[in-house]
Amino acid sequence: MIELTILGNSAATPAHDRHPTSQVLALPHKHFLIDCGEGTQIQMQRYKVKMGYIRNILITHLHGDHFLGLVGLLSSMHLQKREEDINLFAPIDLMEILRITFKYSHTVLNFKVNFFPLPPQSGEIIYQDDQVSIETILMNHRIDCYGFVFQEKTKKKKVLVDKLPPDTHWQILVALKDGQDILDESGNLLYRCEDYTLQPPSYKFVHCSDTRYTESFLAQIAEANMIYHEATYLHEDVHKAEYTFHSTAREAATLAHKAQVGKLVIGHFSSRYRELDAHLHEARRIFPNTFLGIEGDTLSVELPKIEIPKVEK
Ligand SMILES: [Zn+2]
Ligand SMILES: [Zn+2]
Repeated sequence: MIELTILGNSAATPAHDRHPTSQVLALPHKHFLIDCGEGTQIQMQRYKVKMGYIRNILITHLHGDHFLGLVGLLSSMHLQKREEDINLFAPIDLMEILRITFKYSHTVLNFKVNFFPLPPQSGEIIYQDDQVSIETILMNHRIDCYGFVFQEKTKKKKVLVDKLPPDTHWQILVALKDGQDILDESGNLLYRCEDYTLQPPSYKFVHCSDTRYTESFLAQIAEANMIYHEATYLHEDVHKAEYTFHSTAREAATLAHKAQVGKLVIGHFSSRYRELDAHLHEARRIFPNTFLGIEGDTLSVELPKIEIPKVEK
């Protein structure tokens, strides 16, 4: 299960009770805060996202609506006597902003911030553990701006034990799980791995921050289970989107359609729109499985379960 909780969905300024951008991505066993616009910590309280959950923070770019809440959040973590490290993945200039802010407020944080500057290329792995890796995508925005691909690592195979003799040695089962073919003592093929196993699916989530419409990263985002893409404008205002390096709902949906993703979440709505229904309708005309990223909502996708067929004996 992948869950994306929307904390802020407003572009540029707070408007119509909408807050600047922030989201929490919950993957099995870990959470990532993606962007931290002004008021993010208040939104976390409102929607019961515990600060203690957050170990990793990703900042897509240094426009204020994406990071101005970070100093407040880190300061509150400090006042709450946090001791666990924070991993911060962000454009390098954020380091200077934090250094100066904490220097002149005479704040020495109780915990360590491990700063990982984002590289200037697409396709760079910036994080990985035994379950997931995160890769950069370059957006097309007025300043350097990043998207991220969260890719679950390939899981061990499921062995179709019913197809094997009941007294099969456990070492054979382990080898099949690891993807190996099984040979007999003379080197003849006994069990071909692909005939006796199934590969469980791995999730892929993509976050596309502020950007003009571009297909430059289509291959990287292809077939994601869920994608977040900004949809600042309606297509009737496409000239504004182009001028400000943003996208329209129709463009976000077009990209989702071309990338053949499972589900599209749109957000980062301009203050010129009080109601958001038109964004949803515009996107769904092209990509029906689109959802509005409404603050407080958690959008999720569950991976299909693999059914192990029973074998008649
Ligand atoms: Zn923005
Ligand atoms: Zn921006």
